[in-house]
Amino acid sequence: MLQNKKEFSEKLEKETEIVEYRPGEKMTDRTKSGKIRPWRQKKTENVKYSEYLEILKFKKAYNVRTCAETLNFAVDQNGEKKLYQVWFCKSRLCPMCSWRRALKTSAELEKVLSAAVTEYPNSQFLFLTLTIRNVTGDKLKWTLKRLTDAFHKMMKYKKIKYVQGYVRSTEVTVNESDGSYHPHLHVLLMVTPKYFSNGYITQDEWTELWKKALKIDYRPVVNIKKIHDKKGKGSLKSAALETAKYQTKSKNYLNDDVDDHVNLERLKILEDALKGTRQFGYGGVLKEIVNKLKLPDEDDLVHVDGETDEGNQKKVKIIMATFDYTKMDYFYRK
Ligand SMILES: [Zn+2]
Repeated sequence: MLQNKKEFSEKLEKETEIVEYRPGEKMTDRTKSGKIRPWRQKKTENVKYSEYLEILKFKKAYNVRTCAETLNFAVDQNGEKKLYQVWFCKSRLCPMCSWRRALKTSAELEKVLSAAVTEYPNSQFLFLTLTIRNVTGDKLKWTLKRLTDAFHKMMKYKKIKYVQGYVRSTEVTVNESDGSYHPHLHVLLMVTPKYFSNGYITQDEWTELWKKALKIDYRPVVNIKKIHDKKGKGSLKSAALETAKYQTKSKNYLNDDVDDHVNLERLKILEDALKGTRQFGYGGVLKEIVNKLKLPDEDDLVHVDGETDEGNQKKVKIIMATFDYTKMDYFYRK
């Protein structure tokens, strides 16, 4: 019975793939588990983003608009299609590129963490959130730099000698009620067992360390929690996802519920503040693992799910889908 059911769903999946591809018709692209990939939604947001950039007179506006306009899929002998070639604009705040980047980062992070767990089976993981008081737009860029500088300074403190490695990411949220910006850091810490026996740091102590590194006269909000269930990888995986998420959500500057001028002002501030910053950074043994794993090219936003082009699948044809700007959807080429 079970076998039949499995065969049936496999057959169904293959048939769906083939039926879904009809030249001239609407494109659908599904993950292995059947979830529809949000190409249309991301491209629609990308169009709005490019229109805003044009109003703000950013030179890249035109390039951004052509981001992921044409999707090339390779189809193998079983009729399965896989993303093959796409041009992405790689603009930091492009909703399309941010989506691809987040997928890529979380797949990579999962790989790095699973290698870390294998290589250092006794290590533990903690999730640390470091914040600072909200700032106005004009201080955002400077505050982001201040956060990363303070973080690097804090990591050198003697008290945290049992931290073996870390992954740090920056996030900026916008406070809807007063329009202030909330930049903060998410850090996944990898510690030796001695952290718990010889060098345990309480949340109060982390707060003091962060306060000292930031050189501020108030107590910043700091949160530290241990990640349990390392073997099941469930919590570790969700902490990885939390770390690898978007630098700033597109809702912060493409919000349909506010006036265009509010979105435009926020977009300008975020573009300027995030330009040239690095969202993501590895340190310690996790950095060593990253170097050893030889992860795919940072700029490759096509192969984001940990898969590569290689393998035993044979490409039998290439199918193409293009975005129709009047119908606002992707259609297969005739
Ligand atoms: Zn893009």
